Amino acid sequence: LQLTMALLKPDVIANPIVATEIKETILRNGFFFVQSRYLRLNRQKAEEFYQEHKGRFFYNRLVSFMSSGPISAHILVRDDAIRHWRQLMGPTKVFKTVYECPNSLRGRFGLTDTRNSMHGSDSEPTAEREIAFFFPEFDIA
Ligand code: ATP
Ligand code: MG
Repeated sequence: LQLTMALLKPDVIANPIVATEIKETILRNGFFFVQSRYLRLNRQKAEEFYQEHKGRFFYNRLVSFMSSGPISAHILVRDDAIRHWRQLMGPTKVFKTVYECPNSLRGRFGLTDTRNSMHGSDSEPTAEREIAFFFPEFDIA
């Protein structure tokens, strides 16, 4: 079994019907929720979370969006969780996704390339760092 970190971004949390549908889809795809929390990132924390993208043209709009309202953070577990969660989300770019992966979560609910509904860890070291970022008290042991 593998852990991954999922975020439901402010566009999703603003719409409880969509948030519920996404969480049900996650469960129907074999994941278990290990821990969850609702929170709001301030700008500084959003910058810290996305520091790898500092300098990219979308960085400012990304951190503005991610600190614009509440989000939810979830530790998910299943076999091959990182790959399966990214596959369920679909590609980053929504305008491509709606044509190529219309049944993925971003294909169904993503609004724009920035407001793309969800985040998923992209590797095991990233998942470990992101879990520690949102759940500092979490210990696998
Ligand atoms: P995430 O890290 O949120 O799971 P990702 O790994 O698919 O998404 P990254 O390349 O890590 O994509 O980009 C992080 C986030 O930055 C994206 O989810 C999106 O919100 C935003 N972003 C990425 N590329 C663009 C772009 N070309 N235009 C606008 N926003 C973008
Ligand atoms: Mg990423």
